[in-house]
Amino acid sequence: MNSEVICKAEFQATAYKAPTSPSPSPLALNREVDLDLVEQAVKMILHAIGEDVEREGLLQTPNRVARMMAELTSSINCDPADQITCEFFEESAGLVLVKDITFNSTCEHHMLPFHGLVHVAYLPREGRITGLSKLARVVEVASRRLQVQERLTAQIAQALEDKLDPVAIFVMIEAEHSCIGLRGIKKPGSKTITTDARGLYKDDANLRTELLGLIKN
Ligand SMILES: [Zn+2]
Repeated sequence: MNSEVICKAEFQATAYKAPTSPSPSPLALNREVDLDLVEQAVKMILHAIGEDVEREGLLQTPNRVARMMAELTSSINCDPADQITCEFFEESAGLVLVKDITFNSTCEHHMLPFHGLVHVAYLPREGRITGLSKLARVVEVASRRLQVQERLTAQIAQALEDKLDPVAIFVMIEAEHSCIGLRGIKKPGSKTITTDARGLYKDDANLRTELLGLIKN
């Protein structure tokens, strides 16, 4: 397995093994995740909040959390643009809009999940397009790391710019953040919207308005 393989959006928890495994973990080819160290750290947190780390319900928790953290951050060091592996030329191609792509990511400020919908639109340059599923893969790879919503939005737009150089790009994310819903101000259900408009979508307000209509319908 090479490093490309673990950057695929299909990465599953089963794709990595404990460090004691005789064959090298594919994850380790991308980056080292010291699962033992994460386990120790989780035990320390449990201890610090006054829990009994030896009680039955918590015995496997540090190990589970370590594996979970490895999975949730499995795309660190992966360039989302690498997911755009195929290109087609379709002279007549107009607007391409894939909306309501679901995603789950992890807020880097609180290490809590945020999730929602991504809408990705572009106007191809000289008919240069990619497979529609590739856009969902870009979203997946950009999400599987410690993130902030603003950067996630920009990274998705950048992947399109790098690989297809479209005439116009528009990325919009609507997300609910656990760090707003569960703690601090505690406002579950509130949504955060971010956008990244490039090229014609940045310059032409009418074009953008038309697109927003399509996204909302
Ligand atoms: Zn947060």
